[in-house]
Amino acid sequence: MGEFDLIERFFKRPPQRADVGIGDDCAVWSPRAGYQLAFSADMLVEGRHFLSTVAPHHLGHKALAVNLSDLAACGAVPQAFLLSLSLPHADVHWLSGFTEGLFQLADAHACELIGGDTTQGPLNIAITVMGEVPQGQSILRSGALAGDDLYVSGHLGDARLALEAFRGTVSLPQAVLDAARLRMECPTPRVSLGQSLRGIAHAMADVSDGLLGDLGHILKASQVGAEIDTHIAATLMQTADQWSCPLNLAMTCVMSGGDDYELIFTAPVASSEQVHAAAHACGTRVTRIGRITPTRTLSLLDAKGQAVTTAFRSFDHFA
Ligand code: ADP
Ligand code: MG
Repeated sequence: MGEFDLIERFFKRPPQRADVGIGDDCAVWSPRAGYQLAFSADMLVEGRHFLSTVAPHHLGHKALAVNLSDLAACGAVPQAFLLSLSLPHADVHWLSGFTEGLFQLADAHACELIGGDTTQGPLNIAITVMGEVPQGQSILRSGALAGDDLYVSGHLGDARLALEAFRGTVSLPQAVLDAARLRMECPTPRVSLGQSLRGIAHAMADVSDGLLGDLGHILKASQVGAEIDTHIAATLMQTADQWSCPLNLAMTCVMSGGDDYELIFTAPVASSEQVHAAAHACGTRVTRIGRITPTRTLSLLDAKGQAVTTAFRSFDHFA
């Protein structure tokens, strides 16, 4: 199968919303008056971001999910995406599974594939996503204020737990491994929650490289510090009640795990009811895990409000 047959067969679909979509040299899009466009790009490289054992439909889902998560983190509404794909060979089984997972998630968010590039090479999936947000309403990392509450959506740490199991550093009951693996391979981008927090959250980011690292970006951009209640954070793993995870492992997974694709955000104490109403309306849980402080340090506190001394490091690709 040639490059153009492959594109025609697997990626070209009737255009929905683009003025010009797949097949021309450029896709053409008309932004709506009163809205700003939000762009983000994320690449998945075999061996670095996923294992060769992952099912193709999960990979298709995840490649778009990690991009939608970035739009969610800014409060943007997904619109369209470009897919640049490097493939070792035109494997029909792989392409069918990959596009099934990809388009299922794309259609769930009315996010249209409008172009891309296809080449032979090592498996590498790069997506550029575009969303829209009402003028001036995007939620940035720089807006956190001292006194804000600090929240995270959903669950944290399970993807890292699965990775540790695959690395052989921990042995998990099968049901726990299955649940954790699903969190790693098939994350849920918090798209509607992100939009619902416009006008409520002061600052937001998605948790892709680990809670401490991504919170660190908010703190730096906002020039503030934070306290995290570790006894609350330690309960955030979805699999926490399925087995007795050693506390140290739970803390490592939650604090610096990565691959969670949840939202971390700050909001004024007075907006607590609005935060919970927004979360309830989206069917996504949120947990208040701490607060923003004027002193520019990140403190981990125990249930008594005393400093925890153990150091946790965020996952850093270049460490
Ligand atoms: P060009 O060489 O002019 O850049 P290509 O031959 O690479 O164009 O691609 C032909 C058309 O197919 C373009 O409209 C491009 O956007 C689209 N396309 C190529 N690969 C993909 C893909 N993986 N997914 C969606 N559209 C694609
Ligand atoms: Mg090209």
